[in-house]
Amino acid sequence: MEETKGLIIVHTGDGKGKTTAALGLALRAWGDGLKILILQFIKGSWKYGEIEAIRRLNEIDGRIELKRLGKGFQRQTKDKGEHIEAAQEALKEAEKAFESNNYDLIILDEINYAVKFDLISAAAVKALLEKRPAYLHVVLTGRDAREEIVELADLVTEMRLVKHPYQKGIRAQKGIEF
Ligand code: ATP
Ligand code: MG
Repeated sequence: MEETKGLIIVHTGDGKGKTTAALGLALRAWGDGLKILILQFIKGSWKYGEIEAIRRLNEIDGRIELKRLGKGFQRQTKDKGEHIEAAQEALKEAEKAFESNNYDLIILDEINYAVKFDLISAAAVKALLEKRPAYLHVVLTGRDAREEIVELADLVTEMRLVKHPYQKGIRAQKGIEF
């Protein structure tokens, strides 16, 4: 059999769809028999719908795990230290998962945010990616992906905002936003 070439995939940009596209990949990979881990770097970024869907899929054969990490993070927060600690912890969890050889696909959701707001360093993320097992696919989501991570990646997609219902004052819709 042909050897798997693990890809580094980045979903960035200011348009909606970065996390949902990553979850779409997870769904495809699950259907193909891969083992998947989804890690959350910013608390509250996942919605009930996807948490519930993944929990039920995982009940079938334990091949798709979702771990919620980090603390709620808002730009205006005063106590950044707590968030740095949480994001560092998330990074350690990712390192463990990378070394475990338990997964074929690992999604680091909103990790680009964590780097953008200096909760973790770009160098640490780069180091993590560089020493990953050769077969492992990794997806990094979040706006404003750092240039050095984009450079390292094999597949980079930028979602571009064209329209968003919030601009018209349309409120969040079940199944679309949560
Ligand atoms: P989704 O989880 O829907 O795929 P995303 O991962 O691309 O979105 P994030 O930057 O993680 O987007 O932001 C998450 C939340 O912000 C979502 O509820 C999303 O609808 C909202 N959002 C994303 N892009 C925009 C935008 N351009 N204008 C307003 N709200 C947005
Ligand atoms: Mg997102």
